[in-house]
Amino acid sequence: MGRLATIDKDLCKPDKCGGQPCIRFCPIVKGGKRAIWFDHDVGRPVISEVLCVGCGICVHKCPFDAITIVNMPEELEGECVHRYGPSGFKLYRLPLMKRGTVVGVMGQNALGKTTIARILAGELRPNLCRVDGDVEANEVIRMFRGTEMQTYLKSLYGGGLRAVHKVQYVELIPLYVKGRVADVLSRLGGEDALRDVVERLGLQHVMERDVSNLSGGELQKVAVAAAMLRGGDIYIFDEPTTHLDIYERMRVSNAIRDLAGPDRYVVVIEHDLAVLDYVADSVVLLYGKPGAYGIVSHPRGAREGINEYLQGYLASENMKIRDYSIQFHRRPPERRAERSRALVSWERLFKAMGDFKLVVETGTIYRGEVLGVVGPNGIGKTTFVKMLAGEVEPDEGHVMPMGDVKVSYKPQYIRDLAVRNRGIPVRTWMSREAGDYSGNPIWPDVSSGLLLGPLMERDMDELSGGELQRVVLAASLLRRATLYILDEPMAYLDVEQRIRVARTVRRIIEESESAAIVVEHDIAMVDYVSTSIMPFLGTPAKEGHALGPMDVRNGMNAFLKYMDVTFRKDPKTFRPRINKPGSVLDREQKQAGEYYYYE
Ligand code: ADP
Ligand code: ADP
Ligand code: SF4
Ligand code: SF4
Repeated sequence: MGRLATIDKDLCKPDKCGGQPCIRFCPIVKGGKRAIWFDHDVGRPVISEVLCVGCGICVHKCPFDAITIVNMPEELEGECVHRYGPSGFKLYRLPLMKRGTVVGVMGQNALGKTTIARILAGELRPNLCRVDGDVEANEVIRMFRGTEMQTYLKSLYGGGLRAVHKVQYVELIPLYVKGRVADVLSRLGGEDALRDVVERLGLQHVMERDVSNLSGGELQKVAVAAAMLRGGDIYIFDEPTTHLDIYERMRVSNAIRDLAGPDRYVVVIEHDLAVLDYVADSVVLLYGKPGAYGIVSHPRGAREGINEYLQGYLASENMKIRDYSIQFHRRPPERRAERSRALVSWERLFKAMGDFKLVVETGTIYRGEVLGVVGPNGIGKTTFVKMLAGEVEPDEGHVMPMGDVKVSYKPQYIRDLAVRNRGIPVRTWMSREAGDYSGNPIWPDVSSGLLLGPLMERDMDELSGGELQRVVLAASLLRRATLYILDEPMAYLDVEQRIRVARTVRRIIEESESAAIVVEHDIAMVDYVSTSIMPFLGTPAKEGHALGPMDVRNGMNAFLKYMDVTFRKDPKTFRPRINKPGSVLDREQKQAGEYYYYE
């Protein structure tokens, strides 16, 4: 066994922890040297893995849970690929790259997915965990001798492979890419290629727009298009479907699948399980301790891999990664539509705004219900919600609140909150947004459900996308309201966090007798969180037609019929899987009119 000692760079706050108790209380001093000391170059303490005896005192003394000390099997030591400096995060192994296939990568955040993407793209040369000096490319290649990775890395470092990397945070693109979309894209590829990509991804209507005026979903598609046009031998897509609706997710997935010619390598990092299952031939799973170390599993088929991940046990590694198994609903939940529980009703609403027209059929939202709103972007979801909140007057029809309808809103795009609150600790921001949040009876549930503990002392602008999402979502839930509107609450969260969010939202809504409207494009998560569904159909930016809220079976059927997509349930985990268009099941289900639940 070898000792692994790490200090999480994001969690360690040497100026806020009350005199660095990790160092003060360490009992081990040898030859005048303590096992843990403050390193001014690193800016935080570092631990000598040789001197440290693993007593765990520092781990318990640190108020921010920044320290991890564990024993690792010796054989893993020989497979350590990269370490971010002394006592920094360690990555073990790399995904096995195979030409002509799409390799999916899944796992919790902060287990090294971005690090892997950067290494595979040749942007980061791994240091083989030797933090005190340069490592030659040859040494890296030698570490993988006898495997396909040797050929891959040799070509990558020799300039024989060109890598294209679609980065994770598309909202940041306007900061460094300026100009008209058509100009930006035409610089990257020839006329024919451009026409083909634009058509495939449905980008015609944004070509004349300026990059700075695009929505998150539009930026995502432009980024995917740019990657495809650049042309390469290796394509790495880091979360390529965030902010896209299900139809667009499939469109992007099909385009990615078609890239994987016999000479190409394609990697997709994705948290939407239905999409990952659809797009990947094989998957690797990451496990370990977020922020401390990540281990890449052997590849397995996409279906088995995702199931093993959900079940929490990786059979070929004999590794338990979670204490419980994640199970989806086999059958749709019942909708409790009792008059006495009505929160707000409306009579058929009509609203025209510029060129856009919206019709919302008569409906009611009940207390205790989590209403999953499904539909494309630009179809009138926000306009409907604003009519409920009384911010927009309908041209026809009425909204009828049954008592006080107080709305709390979690916006879709949140990156600007981090930028506008630079240097403000989460704790301060939370008080500003949600008042005396810790006196709110749901605080313990929100705090533990969304794992806020380690985030409260961090500054808003230091948070990763997933961390910021949890903080902003928590603030929305902690505002006293009767109707919570959560617009894309799962974006940038990993699967574990999505499940936690879904459970927390359902529990809080049921217990507080309020209601939530959740706008979400990850179908597995819509299934997990919703007790009813409201489908939005129509043509984005032209006309929207919303059906009234209905039970999950009918809601999914109406929506998926319109989208022309069918799903089946996996027999082991009951997670929804997309049927291949035109497959036997797809045709059978369409004929039976059962687009979602079919046995
Ligand atoms: P993921 O993409 O799975 O969220 P990353 O690869 O971005 O994970 O990061 C894995 C861990 O490595 C995180 O704890 C992160 O803080 C740490 N890390 C990433 N980049 C650096 C860096 N340049 N220096 C030190 N630590 C880093
Ligand atoms: P969603 O929330 O489903 O993305 P929205 O309700 O925000 O959709 O918008 C629906 C359509 O209405 C979009 O095409 C948008 O451009 C248009 N729209 C929204 N607000 C206005 C407005 N004030 N004036 C004109 N058009 C608008
Ligand atoms: Fe010191 Fe014990 Fe921490 Fe090791 S685990 S650094 S010996 S306090
Ligand atoms: Fe303070 Fe914990 Fe960092 Fe040590 S590891 S300096 S106790 S925050």
